[in-house]
Amino acid sequence: MNLSERYFRIRDEAIAISGNPNLCLIAVSKRHPYSSLRDAFMGGVLDFGENQISEGLGKIQEWKAEFPERNIYFHHIGPVQTGSLRKLFGNFQFTHGVGSLNTLKELKKRSDKEVSSLKYFLQVNLTLEDSKNGILEEEVTQILGSIQDYSSDRLIFAGLMTMGPTDEDPIKTREVFKKLRLIRDDLCPGKSLSMGMSGDYKIALEEGSDIIRIGTAIFGERNYG
Ligand SMILES: *Cc1c(COP(=O)(O)O)cnc(C)c1O
Repeated sequence: MNLSERYFRIRDEAIAISGNPNLCLIAVSKRHPYSSLRDAFMGGVLDFGENQISEGLGKIQEWKAEFPERNIYFHHIGPVQTGSLRKLFGNFQFTHGVGSLNTLKELKKRSDKEVSSLKYFLQVNLTLEDSKNGILEEEVTQILGSIQDYSSDRLIFAGLMTMGPTDEDPIKTREVFKKLRLIRDDLCPGKSLSMGMSGDYKIALEEGSDIIRIGTAIFGERNYG
């Protein structure tokens, strides 16, 4: 099976589990070469994810040079660093890793000077693992209460993102995804949920995810970096 066949097989399965025909599957091409992204794109894949801005930009520039007239969606899925956030505009259409109020403030300031728009997800850290980026559960209410201050035609709040526990314990994983859905239903109904990776996307879909981010199950083991 080639890359796009794997992608569409997972997407069909995900649509069947979730019952959501508009489900978005992001093909996470990080630490795979541009040629893999290109192969998947040629097979009809339109959503790609990169977690390092500089690595992503290299591939985005190659893609733009080769396909200047075509449409595609690049999702930045890693933590947003204030030093590099201006590079998101005009290159990525989505960022999934806004993990603090301070980052959100910087993003708003930057977006006021930009012409391109960016959709963003607030990342919530529900596993309390130090290694994970994200706002804490007790901060979510306050930040979502002032989300209008961080919204404009160039900066659009799209929803909430989280990552399951690193040990992939299925019971804890389900609790985390369920909790994010309840926060969404409560505080920002109608917004999207970005949750689920190669090891836990089925649980995420059962718990109502709209966007899954999958690398290994499509591209295989990451081969550099
Ligand atoms: C790498 C990464 C993924 C994809 O991980 P796989 O386990 O390879 O599917 C998803 N989300 C984020 C934020 C990542 O950094």
